[in-house]
Amino acid sequence: MKRIYLDYAATTPLHPEVFKAMKPYLLENFGNPSTLYSYGQEARQAVENSRGKIAGLIHAKPEEIVFTSGGTEANNLAIKGVAQALGKEGNHIITCAIEHHSVLGPCQALENRGFAVTYLPVNEYGQVNPENVGNAITQNTILISIMHANNEIGTLQPVAEIGRLARQKGIYFHTDAVQTFGHIPVDVEDLGVDLLSASAHKIYGPKGVGALYIREGVKLEPLIDGGEQEDRRRAGTENVPGITGFGRAVELAEADMPGEAQRLTELRNRFIKGLQATIEDIHLNGHPSARLPGNVNVSINYVEGEAVCLNLDLENICAATGSACTTGSVEPSHVVLALGKNRQLAHGSVRFTMGKWTTGADIDRVKQALPGIVARLRSMSPLYRQDRH
Ligand SMILES: *Cc1c(COP(=O)(O)O)cnc(C)c1O
Repeated sequence: MKRIYLDYAATTPLHPEVFKAMKPYLLENFGNPSTLYSYGQEARQAVENSRGKIAGLIHAKPEEIVFTSGGTEANNLAIKGVAQALGKEGNHIITCAIEHHSVLGPCQALENRGFAVTYLPVNEYGQVNPENVGNAITQNTILISIMHANNEIGTLQPVAEIGRLARQKGIYFHTDAVQTFGHIPVDVEDLGVDLLSASAHKIYGPKGVGALYIREGVKLEPLIDGGEQEDRRRAGTENVPGITGFGRAVELAEADMPGEAQRLTELRNRFIKGLQATIEDIHLNGHPSARLPGNVNVSINYVEGEAVCLNLDLENICAATGSACTTGSVEPSHVVLALGKNRQLAHGSVRFTMGKWTTGADIDRVKQALPGIVARLRSMSPLYRQDRH
């Protein structure tokens, strides 16, 4: 049975064209970009070529792009880097409750160092109210960090509105755009952001490479010292093959974007309709239209997300649940809980994320398999029998 991969938000397969672009830099062109002989200069050229492509995609200047080890490091660099640079001017940061752990983690680390962090709530669709951002700003606010799209429920945030507000108040604005970069249009001018995080492995590039856009003039301290690379903002020999692959992935994403976004949006809407028609007491998480093209996230009442995913896995279908299994107990998703859903529904959340190699036939197979799995699991649930007998 063909394996159906529906976890593109977790990671994507490497595009064969990306691998082809990387291969020479793993083998013959292995030079260190910081050296002066031609081997090194070929590597330098590959790195700068990629920097130009990434900058071009988001309407930035090449010198505003810093390569990192991924989205997680880009988020850490943005948040801790600004906090370190502006800590004397203020100690307050504004973010929201449904950010990725790589934003929440640095914020919590800063709280332990005496910073104050406001975690704004979201509405039932997962959107931050820009008015709440305005009301949360104090004299001490040095940074606002609100993600462009949520990785679990796919909701798009009103980033451009928040960007205008941040600019009026002269406060730095960071967005985690890992889920939108290369998938839908992302323009740092339209969004009004000063810092923006991206990752290669969410757009058919390699794992372990990402980028942070840092608007010219933004004050930021490096996290990693010990070399002049990346204009002293990130020391260490560049990941030349990874960066080269990232650049190629951006090129391919740019060419595919309009058609692919449209195709996935149609597939997504058909998928949601199909599930709602065949399974009762199933709830869409996230916004019905302001959401990522390839994201479907549902809460299925009376079943656990883990059980659904394990049963789908038996049928060779890979899906995800937002819940995290920590030390034996299953914690419901912080994102679905923040939507105001009860713990039972939060435990029942399942995420399907589609991408380049997802077909209508794949979705049809899931639509066929899921109702039976849900019925079987519900028949074993005492709570279901008690409520429905
Ligand atoms: C995947 C992801 C990250 C982390 O990126 P890595 O490159 O895996 O470190 C950060 N934010 C969001 C929204 C993501 O989806």
